[in-house]
Order: sequence, then structure tokens, then C-alpha cells
Amino acid sequence: MSVMEHSHRGKVYEKVHHEALALVAKHLGLSKDWDVLFVQGGASMAFAQIPMNLLEQGKTADYIVTGAWGEKAVSEARAARSMGVGEVHVAASTEKDKAYVRVPTQAELKLTSGAAYLHCTSNETIHGVQYGLSTSTPFPRSAGADVPVVVDMSSDILSRRVDASQFDLIYAGAQKNIGPSGVTIVCMKKDLVARGRKDLPAIFQYRTHADNQSLFNTPPTFGIYLVRNVLAWLEAEGGVAALEERNLKKAALLYDAIEASGGFYRCPVDKDCRSIMNVVWRLPTPELEEAFVKEAEGKRMVGLKGHRSVGGIRASIYNAVELAWVEALASFMKDFAKAKG
Ligand SMILES: *Cc1c(COP(=O)(O)O)cnc(C)c1O
Repeated sequence: MSVMEHSHRGKVYEKVHHEALALVAKHLGLSKDWDVLFVQGGASMAFAQIPMNLLEQGKTADYIVTGAWGEKAVSEARAARSMGVGEVHVAASTEKDKAYVRVPTQAELKLTSGAAYLHCTSNETIHGVQYGLSTSTPFPRSAGADVPVVVDMSSDILSRRVDASQFDLIYAGAQKNIGPSGVTIVCMKKDLVARGRKDLPAIFQYRTHADNQSLFNTPPTFGIYLVRNVLAWLEAEGGVAALEERNLKKAALLYDAIEASGGFYRCPVDKDCRSIMNVVWRLPTPELEEAFVKEAEGKRMVGLKGHRSVGGIRASIYNAVELAWVEALASFMKDFAKAKG
């Protein structure tokens, strides 16, 4: 029998389920104070569900916006006000003419004292801007020990070592680094789960999923099975530290190719914020960018077109992308620049 044919209430599936939950906690380095939840709806649903659970009416939540996903998180939290949710305050935005080329410093944050929480995006997938890669770009601190820090880690979860103890809620759609779409991972400090609103339909309360070990209703069992397998693979590869080393190498190959091109390729992102998951760059003209994408496709390198909202080129080099593939891309970049530059 396939895992798909087993009941989610059966012993066989339960073993898979609990192994997957434990592997998430282990590789994120979560203490016993945390609950790990498998839910559905993607990170996009969490954009609404987090304020529904944690942003009481009369309170304010602070948001740091460093790209398109932070913008979405703000707009969904604002829309949730119609469901009896409090106010949203943008504590900092690095939009500046739609640019988003860096993360703000701690000193730039306009934090609300007594905020319900502080929300940030660990890696801005579309703009290629990442927190915490350099001592000059640490993750933000909230206004006080009683203000939880919430982080959207959808595009860099388990790609590098991160001290989880600086956060109170970590969430991510599984599909970029740890499994198929359809599984959403929400890790919450237990005291935060307990603080959540109780007058929501049960399915929307994180408490429900925590109380039922993510088996309140049928979870995406096959996806969770694959999450468990991917995390077992990650362990066999040497864990997050080994993946981090590989990811840093991969990113360096591309940024070096950009820097060595004499200005033919240009990365708009500030050096200390350049993502090691999503490397974005421009060519001198949109026509050259189109030619680059087309020629790369001819060499069986797909998915290099930048997000439609920003254009340019984007190489998403998640955990599953091997060093050799990135070497091939860097080598193609050199050839292309030589031929067209
Ligand atoms: C992809 C992504 C999302 C959206 O995730 P869904 O699971 O598709 O809703 C949200 N935030 C970030 C940072 C992402 O990269």
C-alpha cells in the first residue's frame, strides 16, 4: 500500500507524520517550548491567519517590508481588519521607487511599544534580498521581550543555520526548500499558541492544530511523507550546516560571475543583503535579457526569467539545486557576456 492509501488515523501514517514533525523541529533547532504544525493554505493563508490569531482589536502589529512578499503580508493583514483584527503599522519599508535592494537597520525601525508582534521576511524571493547573512544585516529585534517576532521563512527555511531562539513564530510554505506544495509549516512558541484568539472557527485557530498534533482533520499526508523524506535526505547530506556551505558556494559562483562581467551583468541588491537562494541580476537591455533566457533554455537551464513584476534574471538556487548546475550556469554567463558584451 502507498502512504496515500493509509488512513491518517492509522498507525502506519502516524509514524510518518510524527517523524516529519520531529525532523522539522530538529533541523530548525527548536526547543521543547515550540509547537510544529502542518497546515494548509500556503504562506499566503498565513498572511491572513497570523493576524486573525494574534492581532487583537485595539492592538497594532509592526511589519517590516523588504519586498513583494512583505507587501502581501501587510495587505492581507489589513484586509483581516474586517474580521475583528487590530491595526497594521509599517515599521520600515525599503521600497524606495519600487527598488527593494536591502534590509533596514535596527535603528531605522519605527516600532510600536506594546505591539502584538513584529513581522519580517527572512528572504524576499522576488527581489533577492535576505536578512542575516552579514553582521551588518541581523534579523530585527522587536520593541520588547513581550513582543513576539514572526518570520516568513518560505524561501530560505533550512537553507542555512539560523538561531531560532530569536523568533516566536516561523512559517513557510514547504515547496521551495523542503517538499511539495500543499504543506505549510508553522512553528510557534507554545505560549503564543495559548495566547491566540479563541472565537475563530476551530479550523482557523492555530491552537486547534497544536492540540491535535496537526491531525484535527485530514492533513496533506502524501506531502508530509515527502517532507519527511526530504528532511531525512538533508540529514544524510550533513544537515543544515552542510547545506549552508553548499548554498554559499553556489551563490558565490553567480555573484562572482556578475562582478567579473565588467558591468555587463548588474545585481541591484546591496552586497551585504544579496540572497543566497534567489540571485537576481540585470543585463544592459530587456532584449539581451530575453536572449539570455532563451539561450539558457537551449542549454536546458530553465526558470531563469525574473518575476514578471520586476523583470531581469533570477536564479532560484534552493537546497535541491546542485553545485554542478550552478557551475554550468556561471560558465554560460561568462560565454554569453563574451559573445554579446
Ligand atoms: C513563495 C512565497 C510565499 C507564498 O507562498 P504560498 O505557499 O504560495 O502561499 C510567501 N512568502 C515568501 C517569502 C515566498 O517566497
